Amino acid sequence: MNAQPRVAIVTGGARGLGAATALRLSRDGLAVAVIDLEQSAAKSTVEAITRAGGQALAIGTNVADAAQVDAAVVQIAGELGAPTVLVNNAGITRDNLIFKMPETDWDAVMDVHLKGSFLMTRAVQQHMVQAQFGRIINLSSTSALGNRGQVNYSAAKAGLQGFTKTLAVELGKFGITANSVAPGFIATDMNRAVADRLNIPWDEYVTTWAEAIPVRRAGTPEDIANTISFLASEGAGFISGQVIYVAGGPVN
Ligand code: NAD
Repeated sequence: MNAQPRVAIVTGGARGLGAATALRLSRDGLAVAVIDLEQSAAKSTVEAITRAGGQALAIGTNVADAAQVDAAVVQIAGELGAPTVLVNNAGITRDNLIFKMPETDWDAVMDVHLKGSFLMTRAVQQHMVQAQFGRIINLSSTSALGNRGQVNYSAAKAGLQGFTKTLAVELGKFGITANSVAPGFIATDMNRAVADRLNIPWDEYVTTWAEAIPVRRAGTPEDIANTISFLASEGAGFISGQVIYVAGGPVN
């Protein structure tokens, strides 16, 4: 048995899927570093964890900035211990049809999802190698398979699947697994913003989505957190390089 709890990092942990995942990993017994753009935003998740008796640290870091990422990982290793679970969850959308999409919106989405996941993983993997144990979970999306208005986001989410598979190949011999979780429609602020932009009332938007999903409901952040919890566990050590679609039905 480990005297110290394992340490997990969840990026974009201030709200949505990241917050639910941070809480779940804490309930699983891990100490959790919650990274988000603003430390103040990450604090609400940390407070929820500590109220429930867990251990957590709030860090303000832009995952697309190499110097900030490296400093954050040094701080986490110093204050919580060596991180051996990494959930690359921070994300943004900048939706538009390709003929209207500015270059800046392409770059912004690539920077957060792809570069951010690369920088975080590069900084954390040395701790995993040293521990001969690691769990890397990258948030992909059903949008990786193509979604109108999301040429940037779907390219980034498909890119994360290739990133994951290569990590699995390179790092497997050190006891490190890498998997992607690809959510379908989950009721979060990210999708609320889409409904607002389309001028569709939120309840109507969720109902329309739910009708098209085989299990006839929208996903919840906990649906994703449960999946990540399993992939982060000791027992998931023979699952690597996979894309797990968590979408209430098959996707194609
Ligand atoms: P969200 O917008 O509710 O939360 C994302 C968090 O990431 C925010 O707190 C935000 O501040 C943070 N963030 C953004 N840029 C950052 C940066 N550069 N550095 C650090 N933190 C940053 O999103 P969500 O719905 O919880 O989605 C979480 C992840 O799951 C994203 O990667 C998203 O693409 C993916 N996803 C979501 C859905 C869905 O239906 N909600 C579906 C598929 C995939």
